[in-house]
Amino acid sequence: MTVEGAIYFSRFSPLYSKAISNAIKELIENHHLYQNYEFVYPSKTDLVDALAYTMAGATSGYDQFNDPVEEMRRSAPNYYWRICDRGNPLRNTPNSTSHFFFEFEPASIKVFCSNCDRQEPFNIIHGEDFTQKFERDYRDTSGSIVQNFALAYECQSCRGFPEMFLIRRNADKLSVCGRSPIERLPVLKIIPKEVRKFYSDAHLAFNSGQVLAANFLLRTSVEQFLRVRTKLPESKDVSQLLDDYAASLDEDFKGRFPSLKNIYEVLSLDIHNAEGSEDVFLDADSSIREHFDARRVYKLE
Ligand SMILES: [Zn+2]
Repeated sequence: MTVEGAIYFSRFSPLYSKAISNAIKELIENHHLYQNYEFVYPSKTDLVDALAYTMAGATSGYDQFNDPVEEMRRSAPNYYWRICDRGNPLRNTPNSTSHFFFEFEPASIKVFCSNCDRQEPFNIIHGEDFTQKFERDYRDTSGSIVQNFALAYECQSCRGFPEMFLIRRNADKLSVCGRSPIERLPVLKIIPKEVRKFYSDAHLAFNSGQVLAANFLLRTSVEQFLRVRTKLPESKDVSQLLDDYAASLDEDFKGRFPSLKNIYEVLSLDIHNAEGSEDVFLDADSSIREHFDARRVYKLE
């Protein structure tokens, strides 16, 4: 890199660092295991502005910045990402295989803490690029960079065992490809306790992209609830269970709230066709919650 290039890079790199940090926060907070999230590079306008605001003598119009901006945009995907670790004396030692990198500082995140039983802010306590340890230039078959970051976050409130995330970067695609402990979801009090485990597992499956399994587990929540309420745990006749349960509800309730029979049938159709439709899951889930919430309002046991 020329001296001039290094000066330009020093103006551009804070934009990339911020974009990477924001992307990882968004990925962890709002995306589940294996869901892809596309990294958005700083725009041309942002890069031009970064030079215009900081370069002395920027008086002859924005055209003068065109070349360095285009060069940065072209080369940015080939830059490695490195975690800024202020406590690490080796942080300024370049990787032996890549001397060009964007350094970023993982931001605090807000996720569910099972100790505190609510959403809490978590601070980064350690992060590293595991792939860098192997001192090889890992690329996929199209020549794009592949990196795996391990990040550990600590709940600001309870400072319990850290939540750890494995983040994969493949070109512009980011995903959470591992998590320890597994994602825990807040328990919905309206879901009967006998079926909370199935209901919660259904959501974990959905969040991990296994929608067919999620629909099966959601249907299992309905079926197991019927067995408990109709006191026929051994029955092999699900239609009978659905009818018996419906007969136990008064007409006003049935006229106003989603029926478990409809929910069960829609989920069954999806399962038999091996579809795994996200819309089916979301509709059924919303109807199940509405049904159970109505039971709570009607004070049904
Ligand atoms: Zn906590």
